[in-house]
Amino acid sequence: MPILLVFAITAACLPVRWPAPLIGDGVNVAVGFTAVALFLSLSISITLRTWVVRTLRASPARKSEVAETYIRIRRIMLFANMGLVAMCIFVFGWGWFVQRTFVVFDTHESEFLLAPFAELLVPAPYFAILFAAWTVYFDAERTIHQTSVLGPVTRSFFTRIGYFLHHLRQFALMVMLPVVLFVTQQTLARFAPDLTQTDGYRLASVAVVPVLILFMPLLIKPLLGLKSMPVGVHRARLETLAARLHFRCTDFLLWSTHGATANAMIVGLLPRVRYVIFTDRILDELPPDELDAVFGHEVGHAKHGHIWLYALFLGLSMTVLAAVLLLLDQQLGAAGVKLPEWAKDWIALPPVMLVAIYIFLVFGYLSRRCERQADVYGCRAVSCMNPDCRGHDETTVYPDRAQGLCPTGIRTFVRALDRVGLVNSHGDPEPETERQSFRQLVKGFFGWLRAWQHSTMSRRVAFLLSLIGEPERERRFQRSVTVMRWALILGLLGVLYALGDAVGWHELSQVL
Ligand SMILES: [Zn+2]
Ligand SMILES: [Zn+2]
Repeated sequence: MPILLVFAITAACLPVRWPAPLIGDGVNVAVGFTAVALFLSLSISITLRTWVVRTLRASPARKSEVAETYIRIRRIMLFANMGLVAMCIFVFGWGWFVQRTFVVFDTHESEFLLAPFAELLVPAPYFAILFAAWTVYFDAERTIHQTSVLGPVTRSFFTRIGYFLHHLRQFALMVMLPVVLFVTQQTLARFAPDLTQTDGYRLASVAVVPVLILFMPLLIKPLLGLKSMPVGVHRARLETLAARLHFRCTDFLLWSTHGATANAMIVGLLPRVRYVIFTDRILDELPPDELDAVFGHEVGHAKHGHIWLYALFLGLSMTVLAAVLLLLDQQLGAAGVKLPEWAKDWIALPPVMLVAIYIFLVFGYLSRRCERQADVYGCRAVSCMNPDCRGHDETTVYPDRAQGLCPTGIRTFVRALDRVGLVNSHGDPEPETERQSFRQLVKGFFGWLRAWQHSTMSRRVAFLLSLIGEPERERRFQRSVTVMRWALILGLLGVLYALGDAVGWHELSQVL
């Protein structure tokens, strides 16, 4: 859920006047209650850790049941902790405490200003919870990792420091990088307002986003500690398939997670700065044909230009939203509406929430369509030219550029999808029941929240299997995705054109 976290943390860093403690009064209440909240969260994680370690030591055979419960509780804790920190900020007055304590006197304006980067202290309780969790859960995950009824485990686990860094690196790259950029902008606006008014600064702050998107892949390798995939069977196989699909990338990277996750991903817009990343576990678990299928999925993202589409879509959407807010502001101003003081204190919050909801709904939809298209490409990557084939062997000829789509290819991809799902859930397949008890509803809701970008495993599989023997269905699907892409981009351009005319292009460029 990195995107959700980015928005939640950004919202906490906004120049909003956070309320004083709603219960009791003063600094003691704010700090005291926040400390109690942190302690509460820590106690729950220590209890969970102790339960996992003790249960598995006593009865290793309960591994999959314990691992399932452990994962479920950690998922609930993710949301519970966010709620807890929101309570610290809104109810206990933690944000208010930060804003009145960490200030510097500005002789220029003769007033108190929030110290540089001090807004990061508002979501700090969350960072504390996170760091504590990584430290505490290490023992639980190591025990799960090293428990096996099948004999001694050969794969070594992280050291405690290594485990902490593994999580810290991902958090820094995916969550903190955008947040820190945003906070830097706010700090500059506070302490060098003249600089931030110049056209050069505006241009630079708009340009930093595409530059970052283009060169982010170069940062990923050192930041996540990825290694170039060593020469060997896996690499040779991937290179052969890449050549057949006419796909180019800078390198294949290996992500050592000590067997924690089975995953693959592609990053980068241009072939020169494009990496395909595989975790150690996925290379170990998947048979060669299924690994081909997974690699095919990643290549599909590049072949269909999804990464470009995402970048274009997000850039256009943000510009349109800025124009909408500007229009609203101008209309209210023209109508002579004066915002009350309390509303001015909170005015920064609604736009960020609006963006979060928009991304969740519209980008989520776009992403699910593109994932499905990449799935189909993954099937094609391991398909022969015979649409009624009964299986593949050494004599099977695979066409160039993934031109075929055959039942065996589809089934291979589906097997890979199932296996990855199974490995990542520690052997607990997604529940597949129609009965809707309250518990299942809650479970389903969290499942849906997690699946907003990829859709659920069962839906992906059902769609792919429905393509067997139905070539027209696939063509219809491809056409519908093409139409949706153009409609979305042209629609956004049209709206932007109309809004730009209404609010004035110069004014619009000022708020970006
Ligand atoms: Zn994908
Ligand atoms: Zn075939």
